[in-house]
Amino acid sequence: MFDYHVHSLFSADSKMKMEDACQAAISAGVKEIAFTEHIDYFYPNCDLIFDFDYAEYGKAVDEVRLQFQDKLTVLKAVEIGIHPFKHVENQAFANENFFDFIIGSVHLADDKDLHNGDYFEGKSLNEAVETYFLTINQYVKEFHDFNVLGHLTLIKRYLHFVKSHWTDVRWANYYDIIEDTFKALIDSGRGIEVNMSGFRYRIDCALPDLPFLKLYKETGGEIITVGTDAHSKHFVGKHLDLGYELLQSAGFKYVTTFRERKPRFVQLK
Ligand SMILES: [Zn+2]
Ligand SMILES: [Zn+2]
Repeated sequence: MFDYHVHSLFSADSKMKMEDACQAAISAGVKEIAFTEHIDYFYPNCDLIFDFDYAEYGKAVDEVRLQFQDKLTVLKAVEIGIHPFKHVENQAFANENFFDFIIGSVHLADDKDLHNGDYFEGKSLNEAVETYFLTINQYVKEFHDFNVLGHLTLIKRYLHFVKSHWTDVRWANYYDIIEDTFKALIDSGRGIEVNMSGFRYRIDCALPDLPFLKLYKETGGEIITVGTDAHSKHFVGKHLDLGYELLQSAGFKYVTTFRERKPRFVQLK
């Protein structure tokens, strides 16, 4: 198994030591771990600063690589928070530093935070979901410097802010926007991830889950990674097996891994 979305203490919202993450990964049967630390240059109304020192990060990765060299492959990676005000900075950060793998994520829509609920103020359920998907669609077309789009249906984690649950939403209403987003990704050699954090947030679904994965496959999608989005050692490697099952159910024969931002395809068993 490959955990392609893990945050160590180099992310502002994690305290996990890389060493602990690596140990947890090995115990969970993970063969490759990607430390996808947060860069989010535009993040209003939040006390955390989502930036990290690449030199220190690189040194720390090199250390755990040496320590666990026979048991685990450790990749240098990043989760870039995409925002139109910061395309230039994000592009520079992605290209001036070495990464094996880059996730591009949208954590804000309407310039407001999903996580603290600001985004949902004054919006109906439909407005919230539609604007969210349109925002991702726009950002993915404007900013290209990443390998996979992070947690496409992240909004499912926060629908309690509009007193709803993801099962209340008719997701098929947004398939046109999502299919167009998939096309933009596929046509430029990018893909998506299956993010298992939904299980941690007790919404019991992968982000995105099976119907979206089928749509991605039907649209011609091939590049797809699976990651836990773990911020603590208890979640490293968790539910990855479910993620691979979803891939198979959607018709994928392979899961994608990366080296130097180039995809490789590993057959699913
Ligand atoms: Zn994220
Ligand atoms: Zn993350």
